[in-house]
Amino acid sequence: MTVSEEPKVIFEETLICPVCKSKTLKAVDYLYNTPHTGKLVLSNWYCENCGYKFRDVKPYETREPKLVEMKIENEDDLSALVYRSAFAKIVIPELGIEIEPAGMSQGYISTIEGILEILLDQVGNFCDKECEDRIRSAMEGKIKFTLIIEDESGLSFIKSEKASTRPLILTNSD
Ligand SMILES: [Zn+2]
Repeated sequence: MTVSEEPKVIFEETLICPVCKSKTLKAVDYLYNTPHTGKLVLSNWYCENCGYKFRDVKPYETREPKLVEMKIENEDDLSALVYRSAFAKIVIPELGIEIEPAGMSQGYISTIEGILEILLDQVGNFCDKECEDRIRSAMEGKIKFTLIIEDESGLSFIKSEKASTRPLILTNSD
């Protein structure tokens, strides 16, 4: 019997870097299992282009469908880091936004403000001028809103103490 196992790679993807915007962010998550700490996930994400780093350690949760939610109430909240997996749906009820994962080839990491910026880029697809103005106001911290990420893969997260997570009940058409 071994006392501790070698860390195992459980997630590996090349993402768009939130800082330099090039597709050079090597995202790797390792699963550690030791008798003292139990199962931990260590994220070690590194941009080969600009040197941006994201490191995180959290308890391992089985990757089941989950819903991550956060109320954005001030400018600080806008800078919280978000990872949206390729399987995640984004809902912002106050802005009338609901974006299905279809068409997203991969996940991305960004701040909440950055997510709004990405939404704004795709704005023609799902909203009119009025909705565009609301997104801009939200980016400036003028509108309070709720960011909801529904993720079948359970990989998405919002890095903030204000974020809450609960199991996602899938409505299956089968
Ligand atoms: Zn970079």
